[in-house]
Amino acid sequence: MSKSASCPERSGPELITPPSIHERRRNLQTLKETLARHEKALIRALEEDLGKSRFESYATEIGFLYGEINYALKHLRRWMRVKRIPTPLVMWPSRSRVLPVPVGRVFIIAPWNYPVQLQIAPLVAALAAGNSAVLKPSELTPSVADAIAALIGDAFPDETVTTVLGDGRELVPALIKEEHFDHIFFTGSVEVGRIIGVMAAERHIPVTLELGGKSPAVVHKDAEISSAAKRIAFGKILNAGQTCVAPDYLLVHREVEQSLIDEIARVWGEFFPSGALQSSDYGSMVNQKRYETVAAMLADGEILAGGRTDGQSLKIEPTMIRVTRPDSPLLAQEIFGPILPVIPYETLDEAAEELARRPKPLAFYLFTRSREVKECLLSRVPFGGGCVNDTVMHLVNPALPFGGLGPSGNGSYHGKAGFDAMSHYKSIVTTPTWFNLPLKFPPYREGAYKLLHRIFS
Ligand code: NAD
Repeated sequence: MSKSASCPERSGPELITPPSIHERRRNLQTLKETLARHEKALIRALEEDLGKSRFESYATEIGFLYGEINYALKHLRRWMRVKRIPTPLVMWPSRSRVLPVPVGRVFIIAPWNYPVQLQIAPLVAALAAGNSAVLKPSELTPSVADAIAALIGDAFPDETVTTVLGDGRELVPALIKEEHFDHIFFTGSVEVGRIIGVMAAERHIPVTLELGGKSPAVVHKDAEISSAAKRIAFGKILNAGQTCVAPDYLLVHREVEQSLIDEIARVWGEFFPSGALQSSDYGSMVNQKRYETVAAMLADGEILAGGRTDGQSLKIEPTMIRVTRPDSPLLAQEIFGPILPVIPYETLDEAAEELARRPKPLAFYLFTRSREVKECLLSRVPFGGGCVNDTVMHLVNPALPFGGLGPSGNGSYHGKAGFDAMSHYKSIVTTPTWFNLPLKFPPYREGAYKLLHRIFS
């Protein structure tokens, strides 16, 4: 929106001057160029904090961000356009439109598992929508947090984007209480998401919650087993299973159970010919505590493949397990590690029953060749997003909104969905001054009432 000479320029919590398309593009371009300058430092930090390989860091974090920025640059003009909306005849000669405006100042709180992507992708949306932002990286990936602070300090003045560092348990509540935020964008655990939601509700701050949960992969008897195995195996080893959309557990039809298990085990062997624990292409658990929690789950069943650990490097082999302890966290909690529990089923009803035992997941993966099975499960199982005959890939397409529902999240982002999440759409009716519909005003007459009745019924 352009400023006129009589339009006050003051900006603040109650009065926002929306940046022009040129300013927003410049911010996005600056972010892209600074990202390129800091690429090596970010990759080094990801290696230090998470043992991520250069390839994985680029593909799933940095390259992903260039994709988001380029997509926003390409579509920004269209997203910012004022949209004409049809107006009912009864309102003639008024016209209606919706005007996307920035919400103001966005607080972006990120987790440790994709600490660059999950901090900067929401920032792309915030900047495209014309907002300023405060970034809060996870304290569990301290090298990345420092690298992000350096990148942001290099790219933007504090009033546009700034980074705050520290333990989220103290810092986040204090900031929400003391600072002014117009939107909170939180990515992290279901438990902390609930805390953030309550704090935000108390202050009437809108929130986007990108949370976790147990995302199932269902392999039906008619699935193409070798490609299903490869794609499930890949989804589970990415970031050593510490991926919010990783297939958490496997529901497999009994007829193909053994061939799928054998094939996934073979593919893991092919990915890491000298063993995953030795491979620089395979990451470690984020810290000792997470390593111990995930490694302890290995005792809860019969190991079908993998199962070895290395306390020194905090690595756990990609592992398939048949759970024998019914109260195991493997069946109830998000695993967030490279362990894949295998649960067989005989009928689709049985599979549906198993799915219904757990809260609505962030992702759902279905492997089948049958249109009927696809239609049945895709429409009936509630989930955030997902893939047919693949895993994880739905979040790669910037044109697809990404988010959960219920306990796995609230709201979505990526591409236009991110712009929408961080914009407010003002609905405006403009009425010419030359006409007033007489029957609208008192004194109300019987004839006007009857006419109104005819128009609306
Ligand atoms: P977390 O909830 O522990 O932490 C996330 C952020 O919240 C961090 O910046 C942390 O400092 C802050 N925080 C922690 N405790 C807090 C508190 N009491 N009050 C306020 N802020 C607090 O999550 P995590 O362990 O960093 O990440 C793992 C979780 O995130 C998993 O559940 C995973 O599924 C989820 N996740 C979701 C997505 C998604 O896109 N939906 C992506 C990645 C991870």
